[in-house]
Amino acid sequence: MADRITTAQRSKLMGRIRRSDTKPELVIRRMLHGLGYRFRVQLKGVPGRPDLAFTRRRKIIQVHGCFWHFHEGCPSARMPTTRTEFWAAKFARNRERDRRLEEDATEAGWQSLIVWECELKDIGRLQVKLADFLGPARL
Ligand SMILES: [Zn+2]
Repeated sequence: MADRITTAQRSKLMGRIRRSDTKPELVIRRMLHGLGYRFRVQLKGVPGRPDLAFTRRRKIIQVHGCFWHFHEGCPSARMPTTRTEFWAAKFARNRERDRRLEEDATEAGWQSLIVWECELKDIGRLQVKLADFLGPARL
């Protein structure tokens, strides 16, 4: 068998595929592409270099990890039980930064939407949310 690869090679390959497939931002990008939306990634000149920018619609989407951005009321946003003060300060800084960037974007005329990582658990519902925000796929 000529096309045989070693177990180590295979698991390395699979590990890479799995990781990139489940990264929330990539999942959302692929989904939106599939729905016919076109967008720019980390567009310079927009406050916060948003994950996704829909320039003609003047809308942006930020994909937030529930832990790092401390998604309120979400089970993934748990305060670590050690070094609590350090984490509390860090989460507060992240949230403050998110809030400020959203304000800056709004002032610059961009409408923004935050998609939380946990929303990927219900793809159907997320699609509705995205379509509601973006409007029809082709403009
Ligand atoms: Zn969440």
